[in-house]
Amino acid sequence: MKITIVYDNCLARAGLKKGWGFSALIEAANTPLILFDTGNEGAALLDNMKQLGIDPAQIGRIVISHAHGDHTGGLSDILEVNSHARIYLPASISVRNTGRDVVAVSRPVNISETVVSTGELKGIEQSLAIKTDKGIVVVTGCSHPGVGEILDVASRYGTVYGIIGGFHGFSNFKRLNGLSLICPCHCTQHTSEIEAMFPEQYVACGAGLTLEI
Ligand SMILES: [Zn+2]
Ligand SMILES: [Zn+2]
Repeated sequence: MKITIVYDNCLARAGLKKGWGFSALIEAANTPLILFDTGNEGAALLDNMKQLGIDPAQIGRIVISHAHGDHTGGLSDILEVNSHARIYLPASISVRNTGRDVVAVSRPVNISETVVSTGELKGIEQSLAIKTDKGIVVVTGCSHPGVGEILDVASRYGTVYGIIGGFHGFSNFKRLNGLSLICPCHCTQHTSEIEAMFPEQYVACGAGLTLEI
């Protein structure tokens, strides 16, 4: 799989816009192009996509981790330029009938044969578990249900290889033992401690970062 960070609090590539929030483009085997979260602000999201050579009309699946504005802010702008993507929303988000293809996620759900949603954990947030040759890669928005809880659910689908996304206030660092890739993004409060404890596994996040796993 390949993941490109489109929107983040930090920059990994000059010229992109940074902003509070998170968005990532995921290319996984036998899966339509997935946009995971949409950042805080649509114009910056679309501008970063343009600079990264991403055509928003090509996105086939949009997954919103949770209802906070730093993950949903760009959604309406994306939907203006993409009328066909299937949208996976946590079931706690109520939507009017918009005529869009919307899946309300509560239990774990297969998005494709290689991408699974953890389901809406603790009534707030879903994360993705992506099957790769190296193991499961977890993509998470803010990790409000807890990084450990998310890793526990993801590990039902195989050995977890790595985790990418916002860790929020997560500080139970031993839960990261055994991972080969740790890429804390966006709202992660203890990034420097995580980097100090896992220097080999740590990857600095930022808009423009691309990882191929
Ligand atoms: Zn957030
Ligand atoms: Zn949040």
